Amino acid sequence: MYDIEGLLLNVLILAFFLLFVPLLLKRNIKSSSKNQTKWIFIVSTSLAIITCISFPINYSEGFYYDLRFVAQIIGGLYGGVPASIVLWVVTVAYRSFFGGLGAYSTFIISTLILILTIFCPFKFHQVSIKKKLMIGALFSIITSVSLIVVTIIMFDLVVINFADVVHFILQLCSSVVIIYILEIIRETSFINKRIIKAEKMEVVSHLASSISHEVRNPLAVVRGFLQMMQQTDLPIEKRKDFLNISLSEIDRANDIIRNYLTFAKPSPENIEVLNIKEEMQRAIEIITPLANMNCVEIQTNITQLFVIGESQLLQQCLLNITKNCIEAMPDSGKLFVKTIEKNGELLIEIIDTGKGMTQEQLSRLGEPYYTTKGREGTGLGMMAVMKIIELMNGRLHVKSKLNQGTKFEIYLPLEVSEEVAATLEK
Ligand code: ADP
Ligand code: MG
Repeated sequence: MYDIEGLLLNVLILAFFLLFVPLLLKRNIKSSSKNQTKWIFIVSTSLAIITCISFPINYSEGFYYDLRFVAQIIGGLYGGVPASIVLWVVTVAYRSFFGGLGAYSTFIISTLILILTIFCPFKFHQVSIKKKLMIGALFSIITSVSLIVVTIIMFDLVVINFADVVHFILQLCSSVVIIYILEIIRETSFINKRIIKAEKMEVVSHLASSISHEVRNPLAVVRGFLQMMQQTDLPIEKRKDFLNISLSEIDRANDIIRNYLTFAKPSPENIEVLNIKEEMQRAIEIITPLANMNCVEIQTNITQLFVIGESQLLQQCLLNITKNCIEAMPDSGKLFVKTIEKNGELLIEIIDTGKGMTQEQLSRLGEPYYTTKGREGTGLGMMAVMKIIELMNGRLHVKSKLNQGTKFEIYLPLEVSEEVAATLEK
C-alpha cells in the first residue's frame, strides 16, 4: 500500500509555504522592501523543508521519502545564492539530526542542488515561463535520478522499486506546478501595476489638452499688457498695475503646470500621512481646466482630515472619478466634492448632475475595458479607482440615476496618530 495521507500532507506543506505565503506577501505587504520579502520567502521555504522532513511519505517497503528537495530547488532558484546556501544548511543540518544512512544521501543530493542552483547557467528571473518550467523540471529529474543512483550504491540495491518511480513523478509534477503557479501570481501583480500606469498615462494625455488651453489664457493676457506697456506715454501708476496683473497671471500659469506635473511625473512608491484637504485641493486644481471647458461648476466642502496612502495614487483615483463626472456633463452641470468624518471613517463624496447610468451600466462599472465612450474611452479608469481604494483598505459605493446624476462615496480609514497631531500643530 501506498501512503496517500503522507503524500497529501507533503503537497499541502509545499502549497502552504511556497505558494500561499508568497501570495499573502504580495497582496498585503506593499511597502516592504525587496530584501525583506526575500528573507521571508527564504524562512518560509526553510520551514517547508523542515516540515517535509518531519512528516515523510511512508512507502510499504519501509522507505521514507518526502518533497524537501522540491522546496530546496524552488527556493534556490527564486531566492538566489543566499537562499541556496541557507536552504542547503537547513536541509543538511535538520536531516543529520535524525541520523541514519539517509543523512549521507541527503548531504550528497542537497549539495548537488546547491551547486545546480548557484551555477545555473541562466539568470532565472529573466528567462521566460517556459524556460523556468524546463529548468525546474530538469533540476527535479537530475535530483531524482541522482537520489536513485546514490541509494543503489549505498543500500546495494539494484532494482528500482515502485516508490522510486512514484517519488520521481511526484517531485517532477510538484516542481513544475509550483513554478507555474508562482509565475501566475507574479504576472497578475505585474499586470495590475501596468494597468494602473497605462490608465494614468491616458488621463495625463487627456488632461494635457485642457491644461495647455488654460495656460494659454494667462499668456495671452500677459502678452497684451506687455504690448500696451510699449507705449511710452503710459503713466507710471498704470504701468505698475499692468505689471502686477501680468505677474499674477504668470503665477497662475505656473501653478497650473506645477500641479499637473506633480501628478504626471512618475513617483517612487512612498506611503505617508496625507492631508486630505491639500490632496483634494490639488486634484480640484488639476481638473478645473477640464471643468471650465465643459462649463461645469465645482462646489467644494472639505474638512481637514488625514489618511495613510500614496499621494499620486490618491490623486489618480480622485482625478479618474472627477474626470468621469465632468465627461458625463458635456454641456454644463455641477460637481460637488465633499469630505466628512463618518463613524470614524473618512467619507469623500463626489456628485455630478450628469447623464447617470442604468442599472446594467452601474453593475459593469470597474470591469476592465468597459466603456460607453467608444474610441474616446479606455474603460480602465474605474478599474484603477477600485484597485487604488482597495490598496488603501477603503470601500467605494456608487449610486446613479439615469439623466439625473451619479454619486461616488469613498470610505477610507482615518489616520489619528501622533504624526498627525504634529502636522496639525505646525
Ligand atoms: P472611460 O471613462 O474610459 O469610459 P471608466 O472606467 O472611467 O472608463 O468608466 C467606465 C464607464 O462608466 C464610462 O464609460 C461611463 O459609461 C460610466 N461612468 C463612469 N463614471 C460615470 C459618471 N460619473 N456618470 C455616468 N457614467 C459614468
Ligand atoms: Mg474615465
